[in-house]
Amino acid sequence: MSLFEVEHLTRVYATGRRRVLALDDVSLTVERGQRLGIVGESGSGKSTLIRLMASLDKPTSGTVRFDGRVVSGVPERDLGFLRASVQLVLQDPRSSLNPRMRVGSIVAEPLRSPLIRRERRQVDQRARVREVLDAVGLPADSADRYPHEFSGGQRQRIAIARALAPSPEVLIADEAVSALDVSVRAQVLNLLMGLVDDLGLTLLFVSHDLAVVRHVCPDAVVMQAGRIVESGPTQRLFSAPEHPYTARLVAAIPAFRSRS
Ligand code: ADP
Ligand code: MG
Repeated sequence: MSLFEVEHLTRVYATGRRRVLALDDVSLTVERGQRLGIVGESGSGKSTLIRLMASLDKPTSGTVRFDGRVVSGVPERDLGFLRASVQLVLQDPRSSLNPRMRVGSIVAEPLRSPLIRRERRQVDQRARVREVLDAVGLPADSADRYPHEFSGGQRQRIAIARALAPSPEVLIADEAVSALDVSVRAQVLNLLMGLVDDLGLTLLFVSHDLAVVRHVCPDAVVMQAGRIVESGPTQRLFSAPEHPYTARLVAAIPAFRSRS
């Protein structure tokens, strides 16, 4: 049994008179321990897909199963196992880290969640916060400080620490390094990959940048206009893209263009 089983997922956003078909009959599976890239240009439906997989939103039709259990359209009170097992790191730590909270209580947030507490053995929250701050390379006294006292890269480390706090099985990173400067981006990427390796996590890595996905994920799916147009080993997507859209994404990578 695959860890995630996504079947015929469709999501239509209706705002006023406008209807946007953001996700159009998407099916995919994710195996335990897999590092899967989800790539495609802005607006292709990547965030919609992972929000549905994390059951933060309801599909218009189709189903998502996690670990054999349907999670799509299920009431929040019954999603404790999913909330404890699947954690997200989003693009902009400025908006995802509450500026009025100290880092220690931001990182401990998932540990305070009643839903997650039902799923996990009780831990000493302060000790766990120290542990995960250490794991992301931040000093222990970070816990007493506020998000604005940290750089962009450090704030993303805080977001990763918070995601790790409840000992999840899956990390979903949605453009998690896209807003960072190039040098900082490499550091945070390396940190992320090291943690995924050490902790044996399953990783869903969403990015508009195929070059970054290639660095992180052995496998990837390519999305265009709400559909998966191609999927397979990332190397193969580069060396022999089958869909013209994939070929265009590859050709758009400057270093790759100059080498061929
Ligand atoms: P990506 O993450 O690949 O950039 P999204 O999943 O965010 O793509 O968006 C897919 C499409 O759905 C886009 O056309 C976007 O404008 C639209 N969309 C996303 N969220 C909403 C929303 N809450 N309401 C209306 N339209 C939305
Ligand atoms: Mg997005």
